[in-house]
Amino acid sequence: MKYYILFGPPGAGKGTHAGALAQKYNLKHISTGELLRAEIAAGTALGKEAKSLIDKGSLVPDSVVEGMIESAFNTIKGVDGFLLDGFPRTVAQAEDLDAMLAKRGDKVTAVIGLMIPDETVRKRIKGRAEVEGRADDANEEIINNRIKTYHTQTEPLIDFYKKDGRFYECDGDNGTIEDNRNRVLALVESIKA
Ligand code: ADP
Repeated sequence: MKYYILFGPPGAGKGTHAGALAQKYNLKHISTGELLRAEIAAGTALGKEAKSLIDKGSLVPDSVVEGMIESAFNTIKGVDGFLLDGFPRTVAQAEDLDAMLAKRGDKVTAVIGLMIPDETVRKRIKGRAEVEGRADDANEEIINNRIKTYHTQTEPLIDFYKKDGRFYECDGDNGTIEDNRNRVLALVESIKA
């Protein structure tokens, strides 16, 4: 099984490019953000706990997202691998993912880092707020906190994955959405070869 990670700050385009990659390589796309929003919409206890954290721009506990990921690994069949979007987001999650995969005799195939500057994060999230209506996209203070959370808790993953050569950086900032998507597809194709 292949395990690709789409990495990057909020608004980098992870969700935007995931579909094309998943289709090309027969991967199941798993977005922890989408799974959490589904729990919120369904009004579950987990959703209620997650909502208060998401609405502050904070991360939900590692154990919550890891439970969702492991259950997806255990239940989803008929694919050649997984495309993780928004997970892992802390070094602890990355270590736990490695342990989860080691138990299955697998490992992370590659991490595709979609890199954009903070200024682009702000611009894109503001645009997305109007289209998708996410509460955590609509407020400047929450956006600032998500950017801060990314730099303090998530960015250290770049070095974590660089250490053993699993990190592949991709410019997520220049050209059209299609240009960016083509760069991501070309990068992943080059990793496979
Ligand atoms: P984006 O990357 O565009 O900010 P996501 O949909 O990936 O949005 O995530 C939305 C929110 O869901 C995050 O700000 C965070 O609160 C929560 N979340 C998503 N994935 C994780 C994760 N792996 N660990 C902790 N919290 C997460």
